[in-house]
Amino acid sequence: MPSKTTQRESTAAATDGAAYVYCKGCGTQLESRSRLKPRAVVEAMMCEPCREKHGHALVPAPGEPTYCYRCGTLEETFVSPGFAPATYHICPQCLPERYARYKAGNFEPPEEVPAEQATTS
Ligand SMILES: [Zn+2]
Ligand SMILES: [Zn+2]
Repeated sequence: MPSKTTQRESTAAATDGAAYVYCKGCGTQLESRSRLKPRAVVEAMMCEPCREKHGHALVPAPGEPTYCYRCGTLEETFVSPGFAPATYHICPQCLPERYARYKAGNFEPPEEVPAEQATTS
């Protein structure tokens, strides 16, 4: 039977050139990405010493500096104001627009800006 499904290779070539991933805890180069299966679930984003140090496999303990998983650059930490502050780790290399926006203190997404925020008493 002809199974001619149009398979769009959406992410296959997107990571071309970025063959390595980096430890979230210290920025050291981890194993080549090509060894990982494209759709495999990432089980660890840190090197072993960092995993032991932080007691976690994916991200460093709160308050610790983080490095970009994709390029190894030290990420900047932003904490949004409000009742439920959220912490963001932004890589200035990979997310320059978001970095600039958070740097300016604007944590709202460009679209759907809540109007209530502008209400001043
Ligand atoms: Zn590490
Ligand atoms: Zn990056």
